[in-house]
Amino acid sequence: MAKNKNIARDLFRLLNADKVLAEPEDRLCYAADATRYFAQRSPDAVVLPETTEDVSRVMKYAFARTIPVTPRGAGSGLSGGCTPIKGGIVLDMKRMNRIVEINLTNLVAQVEPGVVLAHFQRAVEKEKLFYPPDPQSMDVCTLGGNIATRAGGPRGVKYGATGNYVLGLEVVLPDGSVINTGGTCVKHSVGYDLTHLLTGSEGTLGVITRANLRLLPLPPARKTMVAVCETPEQAASLVTEIISQGAVPARLEFLLKSGIGLMNVYLANRLPMTGEAYLLMEIDGLPAQVREESGRIAAICAGMKVLETRVVEDDKEAESYWRARQNLNPILQAIFKRVISEDITVPRDKIPQLVQAMHEISVSLGIPLGLAGHAGDGNIHPTVLLAQVNEETEKKAAQAVERIIRTGLKLGGAISGEHGIGLHKSEFIELELGRTQIEVMKSIKKAIDPKGIMNPGKIWMEEAGL
Ligand SMILES: Cc1cc2nc3c(=O)[nH]c(=O)nc-3n(C[C@H](O)[C@H](O)[C@H](O)COP(=O)(O)OP(=O)(O)OC[C@H]3O[C@@H](n4cnc5c(N)ncnc54)[C@H](O)[C@@H]3O)c2cc1C
Repeated sequence: MAKNKNIARDLFRLLNADKVLAEPEDRLCYAADATRYFAQRSPDAVVLPETTEDVSRVMKYAFARTIPVTPRGAGSGLSGGCTPIKGGIVLDMKRMNRIVEINLTNLVAQVEPGVVLAHFQRAVEKEKLFYPPDPQSMDVCTLGGNIATRAGGPRGVKYGATGNYVLGLEVVLPDGSVINTGGTCVKHSVGYDLTHLLTGSEGTLGVITRANLRLLPLPPARKTMVAVCETPEQAASLVTEIISQGAVPARLEFLLKSGIGLMNVYLANRLPMTGEAYLLMEIDGLPAQVREESGRIAAICAGMKVLETRVVEDDKEAESYWRARQNLNPILQAIFKRVISEDITVPRDKIPQLVQAMHEISVSLGIPLGLAGHAGDGNIHPTVLLAQVNEETEKKAAQAVERIIRTGLKLGGAISGEHGIGLHKSEFIELELGRTQIEVMKSIKKAIDPKGIMNPGKIWMEEAGL
């Protein structure tokens, strides 16, 4: 308590009073992210910086006194990444929300980290430009949070994820110094690639205060298609068939009948419920290209004897399907007491085995597992669904999580495709990386953050004792 009062008092002296929150009810709002099931602890104080200089002053203060600092965007993370488990200061970045420049000639935007992704996408689309990364939380999550987690979404199959669009960063390091990595050029080969080391570093190496993001021309035409499949295995095989035949949809989502049933509650034009699994796809590009590619995909679907292939002609109807897909996780959150969104990624040709293995885990543990996700890039999210939270269901959920993760690794995949490690996956990271790689990463962390004040306790389970 005394520590809290001292930190808040010092910060009030350091910055304008309206940039600091110190009351218990305000601090409590920063104790969790969207997961809500990790041990929660309020920070000792919250700072709402408005400039890089504000961030630098806070970091210099925290560094001198070895106070933990946790950067936070919108708190929509699904790995416990922005939760201040060791107390200290939370830097809420949402006031740094300016789109500084959209450069139409160089196809580069300069942004502050608190810009909400959907606002940014709308701003660039007004200029007939395109920023593809599309985490489903886009109406809330910030570009800073996206960069810090290498967020992605359905468009990953054709366009990749956030990391593919970061050209340069302004970052405040733990001691308060400011560096500018990369630049605004598409090519850059000067020393170690610090831009992409900091991208995905989950707030453990520094605070992102500005970013240069690559833009693309906006594709002039789009078409949504739905393939209704007899079984989940057929839908999974269809994904590999579509990609291996050279068709690359802009979005390619895998959904089970149960997911479609939930989406239908919110849809005026309901999707058919005749299949056990579905692919929701979007094809984009020049109009002729969209026509050719959607025809090719329809032919592949027919060849695989799927139950129905529907091309959605009405754009508003198509948009409503994607909106319903975007809301699937919140719908599950409203129905179940606990929803644990796993994030494994497997090579695309292993999706059929993944689907089969998830079914076996669900049956053998007697626990419902939702399965929906970005099948086009192998990042299907198995979701552990708990109707009740008690000792028995928690034990089963933990077993399910471990088996899901081990299955992903056995199939040659990764334990996280886009959510990051945070707290959620820290106990499993060594399974994927091995000790030597972790030691290399820890020595990088030590070099940049010798006092271990940046978002302590994340990524690795053990941390310098703060
Ligand atoms: C309904 C729902 C759907 C989702 N769908 C997707 C999806 O499709 N794809 C996906 O990738 N994710 C998804 N997410 C997870 C989440 O939205 C993303 O991880 C997002 O990138 C987090 O952004 P944020 O601004 O909320 O960051 P936060 O949750 O606030 O923080 C996330 C991490 O970034 C760090 N951080 C934040 N800002 C900065 C900064 N300026 N400098 C340094 N570090 C920083 C934090 O310390 C933390 O480690 C979903 C979440 C929800 C609730």
